[in-house]
Amino acid sequence: MKQAELTLPQKRQLLSQLEAQLIELEQEVIAIHSRGAPVQLDQQAVGRVSRIDAIQQQQMAQANETQMSQQLLRIKQILLDPDEYGFCHECGESIGIGRLTIHPTAELCIQCQGELENL
Ligand SMILES: [Zn+2]
Repeated sequence: MKQAELTLPQKRQLLSQLEAQLIELEQEVIAIHSRGAPVQLDQQAVGRVSRIDAIQQQQMAQANETQMSQQLLRIKQILLDPDEYGFCHECGESIGIGRLTIHPTAELCIQCQGELENL
């Protein structure tokens, strides 16, 4: 089923949402960095269990940051090339407003995404 192409107001709306999200993410990343040193792993101060806890928390924070950086990059790419926005990278069809409203950074249409996940 073909999705209708985004209308100009729809596209503008989504792109301005992405701009806002970009600013938020950038602030978030800066906040993480300014929080300074990662978890202290002082062997005497913390027991083994809480050390593992601390390491896990650190790993989660890092994974989170990686995810945010990827998202940042993706939004920057979209904003640099807004003409391409809304079209599937795989088949070139319109991704559709429904999907983009939920996933504004979607690169694939629902069909191609489905095929990818079923591999
Ligand atoms: Zn597609």
